[in-house]
Parts: sequence; structure tokens; C-alpha cells
Amino acid sequence: SHLLVCGGTGCHASGSIAVKEALVDELNKRNLSDEIKVVETGCNGFCAMGPIMVVYPEGIVYMNIKSEDVSELVEEHFIKGRPLERLFYKEPGKEEGIPTMQEIPFFALQDLRVLRNRGLIDPENIEEYISRDGYAGLAKALTEMTPEDIVQEVLKSGLRGRGGGGFPTGLKWQFAQRSVGDVKYVLCNADEGDPGAFMDRSVLEADPHAVLEGMTIAAKAIGSNKGYIYCRAEYPLAIHRLNVAIGQAREMGLLGENILDTGFNFDLEIYQGAGAFVCGEETALMTSIEGKRGMPRPRPPFPAEAGLWGKPSVLNNVETLANIGQIMLRGGDWYASVGTEKSKGTKVFALTGDVNNVGLVEVPMGTTLGSIIYDIGNGIPGGKKFKAAQLGGPSGGCIPVEHLNAPVDYEKVAELGAIMGSGGLIVMNEDKCAVDMARFFMDFCKEESCGKCTPCREGTKRMLEILTNICNGDGKEGDIELLESMAYTIKDAALCGLGQTAPNPLLSTLRYFRHEYEEHIRDKK
Ligand code: SF4
Repeated sequence: SHLLVCGGTGCHASGSIAVKEALVDELNKRNLSDEIKVVETGCNGFCAMGPIMVVYPEGIVYMNIKSEDVSELVEEHFIKGRPLERLFYKEPGKEEGIPTMQEIPFFALQDLRVLRNRGLIDPENIEEYISRDGYAGLAKALTEMTPEDIVQEVLKSGLRGRGGGGFPTGLKWQFAQRSVGDVKYVLCNADEGDPGAFMDRSVLEADPHAVLEGMTIAAKAIGSNKGYIYCRAEYPLAIHRLNVAIGQAREMGLLGENILDTGFNFDLEIYQGAGAFVCGEETALMTSIEGKRGMPRPRPPFPAEAGLWGKPSVLNNVETLANIGQIMLRGGDWYASVGTEKSKGTKVFALTGDVNNVGLVEVPMGTTLGSIIYDIGNGIPGGKKFKAAQLGGPSGGCIPVEHLNAPVDYEKVAELGAIMGSGGLIVMNEDKCAVDMARFFMDFCKEESCGKCTPCREGTKRMLEILTNICNGDGKEGDIELLESMAYTIKDAALCGLGQTAPNPLLSTLRYFRHEYEEHIRDKK
């Protein structure tokens, strides 16, 4: 047997390291350590239930384990052969039987592509990644495909940037491929900063080689020999695992000089960001790597022409890159076989807020919001009603209950006034105030505004003042109209995405919950 203990940041925080150590001790004590191996994996996804352990190959799942439980667990499960029921996951209405991973809806209803190795492999062991077809896509790309073939395959897959913009990845690569430059760069955006979002962190912690593989394939496609992963310094475990992965890949000839004896050279390093949200914006990210203060610069020129140090560069987010190896190996058509007409493949969401199953979920594009929240997320705690879900964090918008059956893809979400964003999905129950939510995100944008341009620097501050007044019962007649007119001005005039999208939560709550703003102003203290 293998005991797969979740070692993502969430489970670490709830005590999984102590559980793992207790398991190793207990198995040693009982002379079982030769037959039963303990493996620390990356994030298993079911973060609300941590620490989690899966007994492999049976797939029996134990949840909320404490180190004090370990002795009894080993005794019951492995000595007496009767799984320890009190640590089972109990799906409401289905309290009987021994739940295996395949039977728990949270896992069973997901379609794992990006997260296909989560909870299954030791992210610090390259051989486990390779045994799951890891680096086979790279081998194919380097030995059987031209750079043009690689771009064509990515175009065929329909993959779009998972960082929020949704721009076709193949097209981005094609621009950089066609740009003339002696030096080109491949960059990975791991500066995930949206409140409530932890998709990229989990991918890096659970499967760092998938990102390295994707970057190396991108490098071959555009003709680059050097890459950077821009990762926020608040992700120490992700950085540690990336460093381990980079070292192992170099040792095995999968990174560095003459990769797989093909004569192709590519190496990369990690650049740690200092926690500024604006550094997730592509030009600010590049400016930061150049050693300057991370502030956006006007576009054009676009990075594909003149990016890092003025050289052609492609920047993709973690989730986008983690798809690439499988697209090379299985083909663009395979990737495009799920999803909707214009949004192909799957999307990873960080499901948080007022939902029972907080965690990381991956579903085909076009899955309905209701299915994510109720079938996978198991609904709202305390039997409360669903009010809205905030998609896309501070740049996004909310989707209210009347659109619960809306298929989640780039087009539909935009039509409803939200954005797909990078995948933060915050559920709000009926008790939450829409105005307060808009105020929260405006406060975030005001704090994170870099101050370079006036509309964003001053506008977010003024809008926050008005929103705070409304929340405090000091709103005035005409405030709503003033907020609206400022919102459209800032959208038009701000220099970068942060400012251009900062009014989105305000505008979308006004679209669906205008009456709440009006009530706050009318019923003031
Ligand atoms: Fe800075 Fe905001 Fe202007 Fe972007 S929009 S450059 S974050 S001030």
C-alpha cells in the first residue's frame, strides 16, 4: 500500500506534516514500513477536509486526521483490516459504506487534466512525474516536431490564457516566434494575487515539472534559451518544490544544455516577487524582473515584440503552461474534445467562501455554475440560500442566482458582466451585502494601485470613499450616478488592466443588486 498524505499549503497549515511523521513512526514501530510507504503529495484539492490521506491502491479517503488518530488508524486499517469509520468523509444522505475517491462527488465529478497528478505523485520525485507520461510531450516536441508544428498544435487545441485574459496561447506564441531577436524569453506568471485564488500555487506545489515541461516546449516553439518563473515570495513551498524540480530536471538532461541530446538549450530561474498585485500585469512583471520598481508600461510595443529587456518574450500563466505537455503528447484535437465552441479544455477554480466543499476543482469549460457549487461544492453551509458568486476576483464580477445554470466559459461569463479571470470563485450566501463586497474589492484595488496614472490612483480612492460612506449609512442621493460615471472614466483612461478592471465588481453589483445600494442610501442612519 501507499499512503498518500496531502502536503499542499492548506493541509500543512492544518497539521499534515505532523500526521505524516506520526504515520512513519507508527509504521516503523509495527515493522510495517517495508510494505506500506508514506508519500507526501501536493494539494489533493479537498482543502476544507485537511489533513487528508488516501490509501492507495484502494482509494479509501481519510479526512481531518490528527496525529493522535494515527495509532488507531494503523491498528484498525492495517492490522485488523477494518477501515476506521470515524475518519471517513460522510457525504450528506450517504452515510453508509466505505467511501473511495471515485465515489465522493467532489472528486468524481471533476475532469482532471491540469491537476491530473495532484495527490497522486510526490512532487519532489521526477521519476514519479515521468511514470505518469511526464516529459513525454517535451520529448515528442523536441524530436518529432518543428517549432511551427508546436505552435499549430497549440492553436488547434484552442487553449486560451488561463491567467485571466483568455488570449489564444498559440497565437501569442506565433507572434513571438515570428519576432526577430537574437535573444528571446519565456516567462511564467506565478504571481497569483487575487483574494481567494490558489490555483497556481496548488499546481506548482503538486506538479512543478508540468510547468517546467510547458515552458521548455514554449521555448522550443519561439526559439528561446532562457526563462524566468515570476513567483510571489509568499509561496515558499511552491518555490521550494520548483527549485527541487529544476535541479532534478537539469540532472536528467531535461533542462539546461543539449536537452535530450537534441542540441537544444534552455534553462530557467525563479524570480521572487515582493507581493505587489500589479506585478501580475505582464509589463509590470517584466519591469520587476529587470530590477526596477514593478510598474506597468504602455503597450504597444507588446511583449511578443519587445518584452523583457526589450527582447521578444512570451508570458503565460502557470495553468496555461501546465496544459502544454499533454497537448503535445495527445494532440490539440484531444484537448479540444471537451469544452464549448470557443472555450476549449478544462478550467481550474479555487472554490471558496460560503460553500461546504472549499477546495480546488477542475471541470470542463461550460460546466454550469450550479453544478460547481452544488454538485461538487455540496452547497451552502447552514442551509442558507445562494446569493451570488464572485468570479475573477477584484477584476471580475458577480453572477447572481438567476444565472446559476449559466455555463461557465469565457463568452458567457463576460456576457453576464463578470470575467473568467484566473479562476477565483467566491460563493456568497443570502446574508452577504453586495455593496460591502464591492467596497472590499475597491479597497483592494486602491491599496494595490501602483500610482503611475491618475485615473486609477485617484479614482479608486474616491470610489472607495463613496462606497464606504454608503456602507456606513452616510450615502447621498446622486452617489450611485457619480460612482457609475467615475467607473466608466477609469475603465477608459487607466493605463493597465488593474485600473481598467477595478470598477468591475462595482458595476456588476450595480447591475444585479442596484436596489441594495438604493436601500442603503434611503435607509441611512
Ligand atoms: Fe498603476 Fe493603476 Fe495606472 Fe495600472 S492603472 S498603471 S496600477 S495606477
